[in-house]
Amino acid sequence: MTADKAKRIGFIGLENMGLWMATNLAEKLPVNSKLYVFDIVTALMHDVCAKYPEKALACSGPKDVAEKSDIIITMLPEGKHVKEVYMGRNGICSSDVNNKLLVDCSTIDTASFLEVKDHITKHFPSASIYDAPVSGGVIGAKKGTIAFFLGCAKENTEIDKLKQLLGLMGEEVIPCGCPSLGLAAKLSNNYLSGIIAIACSEAMDMGMRSGLDPRVLSQVFAAGTAQNTICDRFNPVPGVYADAPSSNGYQNGFKVQLMKKDFSLALDMARRVGSTNVLGDVGLETYRGASEDERCRDLDSRIVFRYLGGNENWQVER
Ligand code: NAD
Repeated sequence: MTADKAKRIGFIGLENMGLWMATNLAEKLPVNSKLYVFDIVTALMHDVCAKYPEKALACSGPKDVAEKSDIIITMLPEGKHVKEVYMGRNGICSSDVNNKLLVDCSTIDTASFLEVKDHITKHFPSASIYDAPVSGGVIGAKKGTIAFFLGCAKENTEIDKLKQLLGLMGEEVIPCGCPSLGLAAKLSNNYLSGIIAIACSEAMDMGMRSGLDPRVLSQVFAAGTAQNTICDRFNPVPGVYADAPSSNGYQNGFKVQLMKKDFSLALDMARRVGSTNVLGDVGLETYRGASEDERCRDLDSRIVFRYLGGNENWQVER
């Protein structure tokens, strides 16, 4: 991003993912840039501002962020939060966002995104809004290696600007075709990732119960036809991959409730478009059960290993 452009960036939603995405922006934006941040949990904004006192400034709400910024990025849990932040009282759209670039990175249902987009197109015809959900987890957000699935064509006139902006927070930007297709891509991805995490937990468990060291088992999967990113970098068994949330008390990952939400959104989408999912109902039931289980709630979604009865104490027992 060149020094004369995008000096005023707003960022709303600063917890697991947003914190690191905003941190990458604060680290990489030119010195004269400002990052206007907001979260309803005020401590989260104050942490970012204390770390980057020259660049990051706390705001009083989404409207305040919008008034001060030329580009606004949102990273919120669900469609209802996105609608509230954009169209609610003191929301982004209470200020004039004409000529501004708005990017929603949340994983939400396509209908909520299109409702916000229609509202903006109607009231602020020269504003642009894109869906740009991400993949890569909190580890990827921290390292700046996440991928963005962008709801626009690769020929879009703003593509270079978007790639420059998103490139400050991630490695890959994939234009998916048109508005809301970034979200359709993300939901398809999370359906697959959620199913793999359950299958990986079950396969690790059966191998471990048969006497295998889980580190050897993950090496076997990595070398064979079962190779997958969940096993390699997000292994559900504690102590297999040091950076995985499972090795850190299943903290700071992708909350199991968010996986349940994405899985459910993916199944709604599948039904709407007439796609058959033989694994869908059982997958959703597993994530719903884990979300409601107090041993699992609020922890990384790979906690399904615990939910399904996996042995987390294997290191002590060996
Ligand atoms: P999170 O719950 O950790 O953070 C969301 C933040 O939004 C919280 O700090 C919350 O206080 C804030 N918020 C909620 N309502 C608000 C409002 N009205 N105004 C201002 N702030 C508000 O969620 P997360 O893990 O960072 O995920 C954010 C989105 O990204 C979700 O849609 C999730 O599905 C998606 N996602 C998460 C991961 C992951 O690994 N955590 C990975 C990819 C995508």
